[in-house]
Amino acid sequence: IMETRNCILVWVIHVLIWIRTTPHDRLRPLIARALSSVLVDYLQPRSLPRPCEAVVTRQSQLRPELGGEPPHQKMPLQAEVTAAEHMDLLQKLKDPQVLKDLTEDAVVWATQHGLVMGLATPTPAAAVVHAPLALTPVPFPAGTFREAEAAAGAFAALVDAVAEDDAYLLATLRPTAAHDDFVARQLALLEATAGPRAAHRGSQGVLAHLRSDYMLHTPTGSLLQVEINTIGVSFACLGGLTACLHGHLLGRLGAGAAERAALPPNDALDQLADALGAAAQAYGVEGAVVVMVVQPGERNLYDQQWAQTRLWERHGVRTLRRTLSELARDAELGADRRLRVGGAVAAVVYFRAGYVPEDYAGEAEWAARERVERSDAFKCPSVAYQLAGAKKVQQDLARPGQVERFLPDEAQAALVRRFFAGLWGLEDLADPDTAAAVGAALRDPGAFVLKPQREGGGHNLYGAELRARLERGGPGLGAYVLMQRILPPINRSVMVRGGEAVEADTLSELGIFSVLVRRGGEVLVSRGAGHLVRTKAAESDEGGVAAGYGVLDSPFLV
Ligand code: ADP
Ligand code: MG
Repeated sequence: IMETRNCILVWVIHVLIWIRTTPHDRLRPLIARALSSVLVDYLQPRSLPRPCEAVVTRQSQLRPELGGEPPHQKMPLQAEVTAAEHMDLLQKLKDPQVLKDLTEDAVVWATQHGLVMGLATPTPAAAVVHAPLALTPVPFPAGTFREAEAAAGAFAALVDAVAEDDAYLLATLRPTAAHDDFVARQLALLEATAGPRAAHRGSQGVLAHLRSDYMLHTPTGSLLQVEINTIGVSFACLGGLTACLHGHLLGRLGAGAAERAALPPNDALDQLADALGAAAQAYGVEGAVVVMVVQPGERNLYDQQWAQTRLWERHGVRTLRRTLSELARDAELGADRRLRVGGAVAAVVYFRAGYVPEDYAGEAEWAARERVERSDAFKCPSVAYQLAGAKKVQQDLARPGQVERFLPDEAQAALVRRFFAGLWGLEDLADPDTAAAVGAALRDPGAFVLKPQREGGGHNLYGAELRARLERGGPGLGAYVLMQRILPPINRSVMVRGGEAVEADTLSELGIFSVLVRRGGEVLVSRGAGHLVRTKAAESDEGGVAAGYGVLDSPFLV
C-alpha cells in the first residue's frame, strides 16, 4: 500500500511541474481540482487495519493457500461443511506432533495478536498469558446460529423497554430485595434517582452493550437462553480475535475455503468501539471522554483495553480507566449535570465493574455510583438497565403475557419467547406451580439449576447443593430463581490453558452481542454486534472464562 501511495505522490509532483509550464489555460483548473482530491486522499489519516485483516493480509502474501482468505469477509455464509468434515480436522490432532505444533502456533499467535489476559500479579498488564482457548472451533447448526443473531434486536428492544419502566422493576424485584442486600441497594438507587430520570427522559443518552447467552437443548433440538447480560459484558474483543485465530489455525490444518467459510463474521470488537464512539459523538462535547469503571487488579484487562484502543483509533475518543473507589475520590457532579473526572467531562461511563457487591467497598463507592446515575453522561449501563438484566426479571418475563407487555409487536414477542427455558420464582412456596416445580427439582435435581441474583459466574447451585438449599426452604429462597437445566450436546474439543493442551468432552454456550444507542426517544444505533462461544469441560457446571471454567471458542457452522 505504501509503495502505491509513494508512486501516486511522485506522479502528483510530476504533474505539478508540468502544469506550471502548460499553455492550456482551460485545462489548468480541471487538473488542479483532480490533483487536490488526490492530495486530500493522500493526506487523510488511515485507520489501522483490523487486527484480523492485518493478520490475513500478511499471511496471504506469504502463502495464499494457508488461510489467506479472511474468514469473515468474502465467503458467503453457507453450511457447506458437515460435522464429519469438522471431525476430520480434529482427527489430524490425534498425531502428537501435529497437536504439539498447532498448540504452540495457537499460543504464539494469541500472544502476538493480543488474545491475552494478565497474570494474577500486582500489575496484571505487565505479565500476560494467552487467553484460555479451544484449538479448533466447535460445530454449531448454521440455521440456529442465524436465528439467534436475528433475535438480537428484539432482545435489545425488550431490555430497553423494561429498563424504562421503574414501576415494573420495583414491583418485580422488591420481593427479591427483601432477601438480597445487593439488589435492595440497586433498587434504592433507582428510587433515589427517579426524579432526575423522569425530568430528563426525553433527552437522556442511553447506551446498551448486551450479550444474550444460549445453549442448545438436545432433547428438543431448540436453542434456549441461559441469561441476558446488561452490565460488564466481556469478551467482545477477545472473542472476535478468537475467530481470527481459528481462521488461521484451520488454514494450518489444511482446511479449504469452504471450511474456513464456516467461521461466521465476528466484528464484535469494532461494534463495541463504534457504539462507544457513537454515544460520545451524540453527547456532543468536544474532548469529552469515556470513563471505563474497572475492578482493581482486573486480569481480563486486555479485552477491555482492545475496546479503548479501537475507540481511539476509529473515533479519536480518549478513555480513562477508574475503579469505583477512584471515582469516589475524583468524580464531581456539576449543577449542569456534567460529570467531571480529573478535569475531563465524561460523555460515557462504561461499567466493567459494579456488578458484584465486592466492587462497592463502602458508602463512598455507592455515592460515586449515584453521582454517575444523576449525571447526563451515557451510562453503560444505568442502574435501571442493570436491574433489567437480573435473573429474577428474566424469570418474570417468561411468565405468560409479560413479554407482550413490553413488546407490543407480536412477531417480535414471539421471536424472543421461543428461546425461553422453564423458569420459576420462589417467593411464594405455597403457589401450586411453584410447589410443583420445587417438588420436581427435589426428585430430580439434575434437571434444574438454582440461581441467585449474581453475575460473573460461580454462584449457581446444582445437584446435591441445589437439593440441600431447597430442603432448607425458608423465605430466603425468594432471592433465587429455579431454572430448567439445559442439556447441550457433548463435543470433543482440545482446550489450551497456560500453553497446555487437554482433549476433553465439552459443552458450548453461544453469546450474541447487541448494541443500542439512544438519545431520548431517538434510536441512533440498534444492531446485533457479533458473537462469542465459550466451551467448558462437560462435567463442569459453570462456564465463565475469566472465572477459570471455560475457554474461548468460535462456532463452526454446519
Ligand atoms: P452468571 O451471571 O454467573 O454468568 P449464568 O446464568 O450465566 O450466571 O450461569 C453461569 C453458567 O452456568 C452458565 O454460563 C452456564 O454454563 C451454566 N448455566 C446457567 N444456567 C444454566 C441452565 N439453565 N442449564 C445449564 N447450565 C446453566
Ligand atoms: Mg453468564
